[in-house]
Amino acid sequence: MVDTGFLVHDMQRPANRYGYTLVQCDVTGIERDRKVVRTSKGAVDYDYLILSGGIRDAWDAWFSGDQTAIGHTRAHYASAYIPQGQMLGLKDRVRSFKGGTIVITLPPPPHRCPFSPYERACLMAWHFKTNNIPAKIVILDPKPQVAPIGEGYRTAFQELYPDIITHVPNAKVKEVDPFNKRIMTEAGDFGFDDATFMPPHKASDMVFHADLIGRDAEGKSTGWADMNPRLYHANADDSVCIVGDSMGPISPHFGHYPKSAHVANCIGKIVARNIGERVRGEEVVARLPDNLCYMLVNGDPREAILVEFAYEVGADDLVHRTQIDIDVRTPDLMEEDFGWINGMFDDFVRV
Ligand SMILES: Cc1cc2nc3c(=O)[nH]c(=O)nc-3n(C[C@H](O)[C@H](O)[C@H](O)COP(=O)(O)OP(=O)(O)OC[C@H]3O[C@@H](n4cnc5c(N)ncnc54)[C@H](O)[C@@H]3O)c2cc1C
Repeated sequence: MVDTGFLVHDMQRPANRYGYTLVQCDVTGIERDRKVVRTSKGAVDYDYLILSGGIRDAWDAWFSGDQTAIGHTRAHYASAYIPQGQMLGLKDRVRSFKGGTIVITLPPPPHRCPFSPYERACLMAWHFKTNNIPAKIVILDPKPQVAPIGEGYRTAFQELYPDIITHVPNAKVKEVDPFNKRIMTEAGDFGFDDATFMPPHKASDMVFHADLIGRDAEGKSTGWADMNPRLYHANADDSVCIVGDSMGPISPHFGHYPKSAHVANCIGKIVARNIGERVRGEEVVARLPDNLCYMLVNGDPREAILVEFAYEVGADDLVHRTQIDIDVRTPDLMEEDFGWINGMFDDFVRV
């Protein structure tokens, strides 16, 4: 659809433009009592700390501590949901696929970009259809139906890729044998020639380093940040804010905000404003994000569908969500999608 270069940007450019210091390093520890971040390039002191490390793949849920199975799965069947060289690897794998069955697993919600595994299936199917590659894609979904946006995807699967995509609901993963290419689920067992495997997603390691992961009523780890849902700081430490996919639940009415770049961008700006208000001694204003996601379902003609979310605080003082699905795929939505991503790039990396 686009050249890989369209997605690769110089992170130094916004740092130069806005006058902040970019330190490319691994965060290896966070000592909140001393307000110090430990990194591969030394220690960094802070007054306020914003954690936006994204997600971690919780492979232990599938393989316990079996590092051989984890390493083999990561090396051969990576989902490329965490920004790394994996994305280029996946593109190569799809391009060189000669035929057979590809399995795509979805993690249980909440997970990064809830709609994107279906979008990915459509794009892969379009590539196979266009190039006459005898491929089958089996989507193993732990949910009872395609969701959050159902109709637009179901129609795309049936009308555009009926011989390629099979969506299997209620397919919670029970066991994976990556060496013999078998996956066992509550909806049956499946063999595969290739796969993109997504174990459950959790908050990034940074939130674990900071010891800010939430616990449920039974004291079990939720895997996500324990945070104030309106001001986005940690409940245990208001000098640490959490932005993006690592964020914990927001409202009993809908759970988490969608783990999307759009929401991460909104919350990042809100947190920056809130910290400015605190530094200046002004009233700290609680603000809400919005969210919209365009999803490409066809490559020729290029057509997309759309889901939008609006949020407001209800009479119960909790955040409520309104969802609007645009299920009819159109080229206009595809154009809007490019407008959206170019707006995001212009807002930050192309400044
Ligand atoms: C296939 C796919 C399609 C998507 N489509 C859309 C879409 O259409 N619209 C949309 O809005 N969103 C989309 N998303 C979701 C979007 O990419 C994420 O929601 C967004 O990137 C979250 O931002 P983040 O800052 O939380 O995490 P990230 O963007 O992952 O950023 C986290 C950063 O922290 C770094 N990091 C992590 N741990 C450490 C450490 N210990 N030390 C140093 N650095 C560290 C990582 O390297 C990374 O650079 C999609 C995602 C995928 C995978």
